[in-house]
Amino acid sequence: MRQFSDGYLREYDVIVAGGGPAGIAAAVSAARCGAKTALIERFGILGGMLTSGHVQPILGRAEGYTMYDEVVALLHRGHEEAPRVTTRSGDEIGLDLEEAKHRLLKLCLENGVYVYLQTPVIAPIMEGSRVTGLQVCTPQGPENLRAAAVVDATGDGYVAAMAGAPYQIGRDDGRCQPATLEFTVENVDETHHFACYGGSDPVTLPDGRRYSEVCKEACARGELPENVSIVRIHYTLRPGERSINATQANGFDTLTPAGAAAAEYLLREQVGPVVAFLRKNAPGFENCRVKSSATALGVRETRRFVGEYVLSDTDVETGARFPDVVVHKAWFLIDIHNPAGGGQAERHSQPATPYDIPYRSLIPQKINGLLLSGRNISGTHRAHASYRVMGVALATGQGAGVAAALCAQRRVTPRQLDYHLVQQELILRGARLFDEEKTNG
Ligand SMILES: Cc1cc2nc3c(=O)[nH]c(=O)nc-3n(C[C@H](O)[C@H](O)[C@H](O)COP(=O)(O)OP(=O)(O)OC[C@H]3O[C@@H](n4cnc5c(N)ncnc54)[C@H](O)[C@@H]3O)c2cc1C
Repeated sequence: MRQFSDGYLREYDVIVAGGGPAGIAAAVSAARCGAKTALIERFGILGGMLTSGHVQPILGRAEGYTMYDEVVALLHRGHEEAPRVTTRSGDEIGLDLEEAKHRLLKLCLENGVYVYLQTPVIAPIMEGSRVTGLQVCTPQGPENLRAAAVVDATGDGYVAAMAGAPYQIGRDDGRCQPATLEFTVENVDETHHFACYGGSDPVTLPDGRRYSEVCKEACARGELPENVSIVRIHYTLRPGERSINATQANGFDTLTPAGAAAAEYLLREQVGPVVAFLRKNAPGFENCRVKSSATALGVRETRRFVGEYVLSDTDVETGARFPDVVVHKAWFLIDIHNPAGGGQAERHSQPATPYDIPYRSLIPQKINGLLLSGRNISGTHRAHASYRVMGVALATGQGAGVAAALCAQRRVTPRQLDYHLVQQELILRGARLFDEEKTNG
């Protein structure tokens, strides 16, 4: 790889902070536009929630050729025969976590991205209100890396927050969606084909009882931990394996060290009871055992930045269109895991209409030189509950990466950049941004 032989740099065109779905899409997209691009990740593997968080399936998507299609094809190579599961949540793209760790890193390196692993971002380097680089801590020690444009893909919006960008947290009462520690079980008897995507999935047990009711009753009896009123079971790409999304920690401030440690401890305490519940109640799970668990706390919601446009509840519900669209027809349900109890906040996840995401939602107010992406873009609590999923994060990452590369080429800030140029570049790369009757203009 060229970056290994030539050596790493101190000055880049684009730096992307955070190597999750949004960061990978941003870095690869920027590099493909010819930008010298660094991707900074605090952990030893890329993938963010997808790998470190053991989160699967990939949910949500955007229309046209986006990084979503490319990453799904990449992760499914060799598994073409695996069953495609479609539910009320849309296509559920199951994964092989081990393959994903390797393939996502390879994707970045083969596209010329300078990948920094084991390298947390410490702080943005500021010149007035402009981010001009990042102070990072490599295994060698602290280093200052400069860039013409920086993309925040840290999920929590660490860079934007440290830079002083305004943000909101949670819904009106400040409560956020709960944290979860996902894990994978193996030794599942496949003759039963048992899975359940959520509380509104009408799955029944052989004795005719509804599985979601059995979960609720077990929670009420204390057999399942408090607030764990549904044990979601998703297919992975491996026979005999399932991904379990069930543990739940409400009310922890995961942005504080004490809150993160307390949530992690509570969630690990819950793994045993959830497995015991599965062995007792889920057909085919009698001899299941934990294969692996997330190495990063699964945090659904923290900071949402106030951008030049705040994507609203109505936008997501009615399928808004914007002249400065960078993601076309993003779609996922409004999926609010209850911040104040078990199950869903609004009884069940609410419908959304495929909606556009405008360039302005990637630009934080007050701060220059910085683009948002993934789960930290600008939107309301309910809009976030839709666009936070990985399928959409890949698409906003792509938009941010292309915009960052153009900013570097033209020596302008994201706020100064003409969004038509971003659209032209995205379309050139195969994205579809407009409904049939509209043209870019
Ligand atoms: C429990 C749970 C279940 C979910 N279920 C699903 C699901 O089934 N399907 C789905 O599509 N989505 C699901 N989601 C949502 C989805 O996983 C996330 O919203 C999505 O991964 C966001 O992508 P991202 O790239 O913005 O952030 P992340 O995936 O969080 O990636 C952020 C990256 O930034 C890195 N980082 C953070 N801070 C720093 C720093 N200071 N320095 C360097 N690196 C840093 C992190 O280590 C991480 O690699 C779930 C989320 C959770 C928590």
